[in-house]
Amino acid sequence: MSPDFLENLAAAVGQANLLTSHDDRVPFDTDWRGVLDGRSLGVVRPSRVEEVAETVRLCAKNSVTIVPQGGNTGMCGGATPDGSAQQLVVSLTRMRAIRELDITSNCMTVEAGLSLFEAQEAAAGNGLMMPLSIASEGSATIGGAVSTNAGGVNVLRYGNMRDLTLGIEAVLADGTIWSDLKKLHKNNTGYDLKQLFIGGEGTLGIVTAACIKLHHPPSSRLTFLAGIKSVQSALSSLKDIQGRFGKIVESWELFSDVSANLLARNCGYERLPLQATHPWYLLGEIALYDDGDEDIWAERLVEMAGRMQCDDIVLAMSQSQRENLWAIRENISEAERAQGKSIKHDVSVPTGAIPDLIARVLNSFETRFTDCQINIFGHVGDGNLHINAIPREIGVQIGADTAAAISEFVYDAAVALDGSFSAEHGIGSMKTAQMAKYKEPPALELMRQIKAALDPMGIFNPGKVLT
Ligand SMILES: Cc1cc2nc3c(=O)[nH]c(=O)nc-3n(C[C@H](O)[C@H](O)[C@H](O)COP(=O)(O)OP(=O)(O)OC[C@H]3O[C@@H](n4cnc5c(N)ncnc54)[C@H](O)[C@@H]3O)c2cc1C
Repeated sequence: MSPDFLENLAAAVGQANLLTSHDDRVPFDTDWRGVLDGRSLGVVRPSRVEEVAETVRLCAKNSVTIVPQGGNTGMCGGATPDGSAQQLVVSLTRMRAIRELDITSNCMTVEAGLSLFEAQEAAAGNGLMMPLSIASEGSATIGGAVSTNAGGVNVLRYGNMRDLTLGIEAVLADGTIWSDLKKLHKNNTGYDLKQLFIGGEGTLGIVTAACIKLHHPPSSRLTFLAGIKSVQSALSSLKDIQGRFGKIVESWELFSDVSANLLARNCGYERLPLQATHPWYLLGEIALYDDGDEDIWAERLVEMAGRMQCDDIVLAMSQSQRENLWAIRENISEAERAQGKSIKHDVSVPTGAIPDLIARVLNSFETRFTDCQINIFGHVGDGNLHINAIPREIGVQIGADTAAAISEFVYDAAVALDGSFSAEHGIGSMKTAQMAKYKEPPALELMRQIKAALDPMGIFNPGKVLT
């Protein structure tokens, strides 16, 4: 690194946008959970794509590696620098322009640092909907969501970020600005290169803008919470609705009685808005496109509940009731956090294998790991569950060896059912060992070749995804 590297960087982005002091760097150097404690050389905060390009060129010339960062809400440490004080964090949060909102083509072109919430609001202000919805949407950015191929509670109906991304703009390893911000639904002109950057976790380039597909919002939604006896009934009722009425279910979220107990103990939910307690709970949301459908659907849901042998179901009758039902689901992570450090897993299996996965985990978990409880919740309609181990008693630490054994147990169970050890959170720095263990060797080799072709000097996010 040449002695004038930082000076040149400051000239490229403005002195105020190069942070080098310890206090300024800390929020960028640590992950939001406080699990990882990195130490960067500095943090640059460019405001234009040309500034990103100049930053990358300077880094390439000086062999300085780059950690791209959005809202820093990632789950796997992908946005956290290592402890060497040699890596540069490139934070995109000052690049938040809405370059175009095209209501005729149903899409918006926005810069990487715009938050998901701001993108949702902009679309809603124009009568459209940006459907990606995750609990971190106030801070998580478009660039981060593209780079992690984020999922969330509406994937069932609208797909994940890959399905919502029509085009991207990215800065490549030599500082080239590659603009592929096309609004096309059809474009068969060779390899679809943007797909490499979607889910690339900042290892192939810096995404500076994206063209996002928008949808027409439903005229209303029917949201319900049901207490159910079996996971199988949650899946069969979903199949039933989809088979009879098409793709109108937006969310199908499952959580267990363990989640409900944690909510009661740690978040003040003494009881859920149901008559009794149940082994499982289902939070569902159905999109309605005709005014007046609410009454018909309320009847259909009660009838469906009967077929599920469920006699305890509550429908949201107002927006505030809807928000209250969603708050239950969204507070589960907080209820876990209050219990102590949990060992989190985000796995997926073919939807039909969900009951088998849960049975395999529940059958032997508690006899093997007596100090822990398993808390299962997640996007059951997508085959994606969070299977988290939590200490039985508040504040008790789960030891490192036990944590590793638990993770192996959960991942082995998912992979044995043809599932994935990382459904929507990615790999980052935390799951590289699982990548080496579970990913097929030919796929790993192809990934390494792609990385070498696009980033021959290895300046983008080393130590993440691939090791
Ligand atoms: C409470 C909570 C709930 C969550 N729920 C969900 C959920 O339901 N579904 C889900 O999928 N995720 C969820 N997440 C995880 C997280 O919010 C998402 O992964 C989100 O997409 C990350 O966005 P970010 O801007 O914070 O990215 P960051 O955390 O800053 O970065 C994530 C990764 O992307 C890279 N990156 C970021 N920006 C860029 C860019 N512009 N160019 C290139 N690389 C970049 C980083 O290097 C890193 O590898 C949740 C997180 C929290 C805290």
